[in-house]
Amino acid sequence: MTRYIFVAGGVMSGIGKGVAVAGIGKILKSYGFRVTAIKIDPYVNVDAGTMNPIEHGEIFVTADGTECDQDLGNYERFIDEDLSTLNYITTGRVYQAVIERERNLGYGGKCVEVVPHIPEEVILRIKKAARATRADFVLIEIGGTVGEYQNSLFLEAARMMKMNMSGNLLFILISYLPVPRMVGEMKTKPTQQAVRWLNMAGIQPDMILARSVVPLDKPRKRKISVFCNVSKEDVISAPDVKSIYEIPLNFEKDRMGDRILKKFGLRPKKKGNMRDWKKLVNIIRTAKKPVKIGIVGKYFETGNFTLTDSYISIIEAIKHASWSFKRKPEIYWLSSEDYEKNPRLLKGLKEYDGIIVPGGFGVRGIEGKIKTIQFCRKNKIPYFGLCLGMQLAVIEFARNVCGLRRANSAEFNSKCKENVIDVMPDQNILLKEKRYGGTMRLGDYKCRIKPGTISHKAYKSSNIFERHRHRYEVNNAFRSILEKRGIVVAGVNPERDLVEIIEIKGHPFFVATQFHPEFKSRPTKPHPLFREFIRACSRRQSH
Ligand code: GLN
Repeated sequence: MTRYIFVAGGVMSGIGKGVAVAGIGKILKSYGFRVTAIKIDPYVNVDAGTMNPIEHGEIFVTADGTECDQDLGNYERFIDEDLSTLNYITTGRVYQAVIERERNLGYGGKCVEVVPHIPEEVILRIKKAARATRADFVLIEIGGTVGEYQNSLFLEAARMMKMNMSGNLLFILISYLPVPRMVGEMKTKPTQQAVRWLNMAGIQPDMILARSVVPLDKPRKRKISVFCNVSKEDVISAPDVKSIYEIPLNFEKDRMGDRILKKFGLRPKKKGNMRDWKKLVNIIRTAKKPVKIGIVGKYFETGNFTLTDSYISIIEAIKHASWSFKRKPEIYWLSSEDYEKNPRLLKGLKEYDGIIVPGGFGVRGIEGKIKTIQFCRKNKIPYFGLCLGMQLAVIEFARNVCGLRRANSAEFNSKCKENVIDVMPDQNILLKEKRYGGTMRLGDYKCRIKPGTISHKAYKSSNIFERHRHRYEVNNAFRSILEKRGIVVAGVNPERDLVEIIEIKGHPFFVATQFHPEFKSRPTKPHPLFREFIRACSRRQSH
């Protein structure tokens, strides 16, 4: 039998709902249950593929090629399960399905109404995910904050579901308790009001997860309990933490897992001690020797703020790999446009133990990234290119080693004769018809690894699957000249003979991938290529 746990946020956004849900998932899994998690994004966008990463953060990609919210990345990293398109629901997807059904006479001549038909479609999707994953627990995160229009139909879905299966469904509110400096005391009123909002939507939360800068004290717990109708034991303290991986351990201090299981009348299937994570958190807290990684990108400047959400999976993958060597990762954000404007800055790159050029779209900042890659190649600084970072490495090599001065990508100059990165005919048709959404090369594709390469040493395997999200590919017409001049094609997609990994010999670490390895890294199972990259970075440091 499947149990459902809905989670919604109160007071304000940005309080770490996604990682909290992921943390609850980790706890339940540690007790021996099968867990899956669904993210509901209230956007009308059908998926996250068309969103700008500065506005929405990273676009995460599942194995089956769904472009989704970055929270699915958190779920995968915490629960250690691959998720699929069923784990992602948006307003756009729900309406699209309802309208399609209506067009096909699927409602048998009835008036199709926002209520109940929209929430019914939501419930249908949640149950479908439950069936497909055969999960004991389905966690459902409702995006946004209670009280806004955008997610009210999803709350309605939760209410309707709860009405029909009260013993098998829990509702958790994740709220925020501010400690205003001029007051000097933690305030519970906004949380009380968030609960009122939920009550108006016909929902009484069973548990309240209280986010704040510090742990909740007894008087605050009592107050929330009295005014929000939950028992004191069901008010879980969720203070700020240094590392997100401490979150489930913290929840367990307030016996959250135990409380949840009791409410469902369940016993743990095994003793949930999360020993692996305790060990990990211990390393995170104690690792002192730094490894300095520079990320040369462009999606992090907004006004006066630096946002690093666009690269969250890369950051986490660097951390996982660093911790496996008991190193303290230090990540530096370097704007590619600075190198374009002032190439003299390039020599500063020598201060880092390794450089990453991550994925990206559009021409802005491209030349600065190419200069960065050239500098890393010539100065033997460990370099790891991800997707665009691989395409640009090929362009750099073609221009500066193969003498193809005008080498470029069709993405930036469609007419150039020396496009070493080109668009495949099937993609060209899509582009001409402006069919952008969900049409890139997406999700898992097979890659065959060449023996004797760094990649082969890392994967210890000749056949792997990695996740993709791109339109452009290495142009096979230039492959032989690139190889002749020293590029090693270390990985190829066997079905379409597409270049997936390149390396350069005689360099401590110069590896670049057409796919996104960062999506597959897990806290206690670092990705093999990130691990080898960090190994090379640590070596450089010890010189
Ligand atoms: N813009 C490039 C492409 O579409 C690279 C995409 C990426 O880095 N994810 O092929």
